[in-house]
Amino acid sequence: MCQQTRITTVIPYYHRWLRRFPSWSALARAPQAAVLRHWEGLGYYRRARFLHALAKAVQRLPQRQLPSDPQKLRFLPGIGHYTAGAISSIAFAIPSPAFDGNVARVLGRLLAHHRRSPNLKKLQEFASTIVPKRNPGIHNQALMELGALVCLPKNPLCSHCPLRSVCPSRNKLPRPTTSRPKPTTLQENLLIVQHGKSVWLTRQHPANRWRSLSLLPTLSAKPKKALPIGKILYAYTRYHISADVFLSPYPPKDIIGRWFNPSALRQATLPSPHRRALSLLPQNRNL
Ligand code: SF4
Repeated sequence: MCQQTRITTVIPYYHRWLRRFPSWSALARAPQAAVLRHWEGLGYYRRARFLHALAKAVQRLPQRQLPSDPQKLRFLPGIGHYTAGAISSIAFAIPSPAFDGNVARVLGRLLAHHRRSPNLKKLQEFASTIVPKRNPGIHNQALMELGALVCLPKNPLCSHCPLRSVCPSRNKLPRPTTSRPKPTTLQENLLIVQHGKSVWLTRQHPANRWRSLSLLPTLSAKPKKALPIGKILYAYTRYHISADVFLSPYPPKDIIGRWFNPSALRQATLPSPHRRALSLLPQNRNL
């Protein structure tokens, strides 16, 4: 849950998730719609689908538990190098590195020479040589937290850093090697199709976003004979999207979908930008 999402945002979702899915088997048995419903609001639904697939894969293992070996963990759905290292060191005390962007930044600054950081491969190799046999999970978490809270990307708090006496980058950061790509701005049109209190939703999206979720129709051109009712702004991966929202009683001809009555609409799993678009309808302020 914490990949791409701040911990303070995650905490209520995490508790709700554990109440609904207290074990791997409970998660594996749950229908995908319930899993996605409990993820609603966190975004990046791919993580929920991976977690669901992981629970099913765990049920097929002989012990029905996660393996502790990072090499075996990496064969499971949704677990990459970083997650395997984090699980095996934090949950099983296996000395394996958990190398994420925060750790790469801290080590890159610690090992900088003439204001140049080593490349990622070298940093990753170095990370695996410094994991202690005792308390490897605490070591990994300390490095991650140092990167997240002290060795910040733009203005590191060097005067509070426990590594300041040995760090060559203290108050003198390495030169950036790459610049982040600028987000791309997109414009789209969202159509709310309403008849009485029912709303028409689809699973189709022109860019294949939000697979398995129920969606408002997304149109490339402004719909004819539809009433403009507002605009929403949202971010999706590297896109900044401005969506004009329209209201119409007629479903688009070339999109497959179905009607949802108010109760089904409350139960449906919609991405949060589409929920926000629906809240532009005065009678749906509480959706
Ligand atoms: S001294 Fe500054 S640059 Fe070096 S690791 Fe600490 S916070 Fe980062």
